[in-house]
This record gives sequence, structure tokens and C-alpha cells, in this order.
Amino acid sequence: MKQDNFKSPDYYSIDNLLSDENILVRDSVREWVKNNASPIIEKAVQDDIFPKIFLKGISEIGGYGAFLPEKYGGSDIDFISYGLMMQELERCDSSLRVLSSVQSSLVMKLIYDYGKEGVKSKYLNRLANGELIGCFGMTEPSHGSDPSSMQTKFKKVKNTYVINGTKLWIGQAPICDLALVWAKNKESEFGLFLLERNNEYFKTQKIQNKWGFRASETGELIFENLIVDEDMLLFKTSNMVDVLKCLNLDRYAVSWGALGIAMDCYNVALNYSNERIQFGKKISSFQLIQKKLVDMITEITKVQIMVWRLGKLMNAKQASYEQISMAKRTSVNMASDVARTARSILGGMGITSEYPVMRHILNLEVLKTYQGTEEIHTLITGKSITGIPAFR
Ligand SMILES: Cc1cc2nc3c(=O)[nH]c(=O)nc-3n(C[C@H](O)[C@H](O)[C@H](O)COP(=O)(O)OP(=O)(O)OC[C@H]3O[C@@H](n4cnc5c(N)ncnc54)[C@H](O)[C@@H]3O)c2cc1C
Repeated sequence: MKQDNFKSPDYYSIDNLLSDENILVRDSVREWVKNNASPIIEKAVQDDIFPKIFLKGISEIGGYGAFLPEKYGGSDIDFISYGLMMQELERCDSSLRVLSSVQSSLVMKLIYDYGKEGVKSKYLNRLANGELIGCFGMTEPSHGSDPSSMQTKFKKVKNTYVINGTKLWIGQAPICDLALVWAKNKESEFGLFLLERNNEYFKTQKIQNKWGFRASETGELIFENLIVDEDMLLFKTSNMVDVLKCLNLDRYAVSWGALGIAMDCYNVALNYSNERIQFGKKISSFQLIQKKLVDMITEITKVQIMVWRLGKLMNAKQASYEQISMAKRTSVNMASDVARTARSILGGMGITSEYPVMRHILNLEVLKTYQGTEEIHTLITGKSITGIPAFR
């Protein structure tokens, strides 16, 4: 097993734009990754196993809901620190970022934003310390890019709600204790429910044999006449825009996470090209290899600046849905190109688990679809600049 000697590239001195706290958070997550995750990740992915020790490990580095107030188990970090945390986790493997960001951005954030005080105090600290694991269910077997047509139903019966339906492709579903789930009523209103998995009316099913996100548990949520207290309806709206905005923080997390993957691939390729000798010379001395490395660092640098600026907008509560969408699409596309170029620089070695590149490429294939497909994000930007929605 190789030593994890990751160093993040910083061609434009982005570190000078970061606060001491930003750097402290980034470096402490990086250290934890090097000592605890890097040594086991290749084998876990090869064996298609989710390492359960990550559950507690992430909580020990404050990786669940770190941007929340201390009262709710967070540490009040800003969104740049949160982004850097995602960068460092996904730099190792997407499974780590998924575990941290689904729990943080999609479960804890939504409970914090929409839950009544009793709900917040009942769940948030237990989610922060990893005692409870949450998941987020929007996608269904027949509705992915078009969640407005969702078929999961809720119905008010006296002072309870009854939920019926199935959610598919849900990160952490097989190991979840609770789920934040969108459902629709017959008046076409969307309801965001907090559902505990503690009876036979809430079942889960694991999706087996994925080629990406292999060290992450993904599955189905199945609700059959699940009855919940009315407090478990956190938020109700008839505006689809409100539903989609709930994805903002996780899409933001993905934009930083994909940047982390690109950094790792660049770092590996640069080191390899300085060691590998062909035709009696280091391959890094060949112009074609240099062009590849130059393109990689240039594209990484552009995205570093983009997500840093987006983080500043997030801190000021000024980041728009469309700006976040652009960053997600740009960062994932950039990382896919960088990862493939890194793979070519590594030659045959690039396809082995000796190096992380092929594993990252497979995770990036998921990232192109996950949290809104590349096509849908293109159309979101298209709509924002032309004023014309091309979705339907
Ligand atoms: C490993 C994994 C984990 C996931 N985790 C979660 C999770 O935790 N929670 C959750 O709710 N979801 C999750 N998802 C689901 C993910 O968000 C969806 O897969 C995604 O939104 C796309 O939906 P779909 O797969 O049904 O594809 P579809 O919507 O069926 O799309 C198929 C293709 O058609 C294209 N397309 C669709 N509509 C248009 C259009 N109008 N114009 C042009 N092209 C179009 C798409 O871009 C895509 O290329 C996860 C997915 C994966 C693979």
C-alpha cells in the first residue's frame, strides 16, 4: 500500500484568500483522511464494502453539520470551511463526501431550516455525533430529473399523515435511521417529511454491484401506509422551486468535492510523470505530457477560484440556485477531463488500484448524474441567461 502524500495544488495562491479557520479545518480533515481513510479505501472499493468505521470517524472530525450552531452539534464554520472539508473528503473517495454531505446538507440543514424546536433538539445532536444516520429521498423509480411528477403520496388523516411510495437511488438508505423525504398530496402540494425507520411500514433495499460509489451504501426507501405524527411534516409548498432549492447546499458540496478529485488526479499524474522513465527520460520532459499537465492545473485553478467565490456568496446568503448549478456542472466536468488525462499519463498503471485514478473516474461518472444531471444543469443555466425554460 502506497503512502498518501497528497499535496493540493495552489497555482494562484488561493491559500492567501482563506482564513486561519478555513486552513485549520482543511488540514485537520486532510490529516484524518491520510491516517484513517486512505489506508483502507482501495480495498473497500475493490470488495464493494462500505467501511462502517467511517460513520464514527466523520463525526469525530466534526463532519456532520459543522456549519450549524454549537447548540445543535455544529461548530459554526463558514461555507468555505465546509467546502474545503468536502474537497478533502472526496479527494480520498466520493463515499466519504457522500456520507458527510448528505447528513449535513440534506438532512441536518433541512431539519434546522424547517423543523420545529422540538424536532431540532430531538435529532440534530444525535445526527452530529453519528448516533443517527440520515438519508434524503427525492428520486423515484420513474422520476429522476423531473421530481415534480413524483408519485410518493401523503394524505392527512386526523392529526397524522399517511405516506405511500418508493424512492430510488438514495445514498445511505440501507443504513439509515431516518429519512427526509419529499411526497405530494392530491392538491399537488409537496411535503418534506422526516421519517424514522423503526417499523415494517418503512423498508429499505440495497442496490448491489454498482461500478461507482462502491464504498457507499445506496438503495431504495419503501413506504407502505406509513403513519407519522403531523410534526414530521417539516415544510409544505406548491412551488417546485422551493423543493429544488433544498438541493443547493449539497450541490455546493459536490462542486468542492469534484475539485478535490481533480486535485488528487493531478497530484498523482504530476508525481508519476516525474518518476516514470521512457526513451531514457522522465516522461514529464516530453512536451505532450507537459501540455496535459498544464491543461489540468489551468482548469483546476479556474474552478478553485469559482468555488471560493461561490463560498463567499454562500457566506453572504447571496448565492443563487443558478450559480450553484453552474459550479456543480463545471467542477464535475472539469474533474472528469482531468481524471481521464491523469489516467492516460499513468499509462497501463492508471487502470490498477495501485493508483486512485480509475476509482475516481468511476465516481465521476456517478457525479455527472447525481444531484442533477449534466444536461439538466446545462438547461438551468440556459434558462437563466435566455429566460426560456427548455426542460419540457
Ligand atoms: C449513486 C447514486 C446516488 C444517488 N443519491 C441520491 C440521493 O441520496 N437522493 C436522491 O433523491 N437521489 C439520489 N440519486 C439520484 C440522482 O439524483 C438521479 O439519478 C438523477 O437526478 C437523474 O435521474 P435518473 O437517474 O432518473 O435519470 P433520468 O431523469 O431518467 O435521465 C436520463 C437521461 O435523460 C436526460 N434528461 C432528462 N430530462 C431531460 C431534458 N428535459 N432535457 C435533456 N435531457 C434530459 C438526463 O440528463 C439523463 O441523461 C442518486 C443517484 C446515484 C446514481
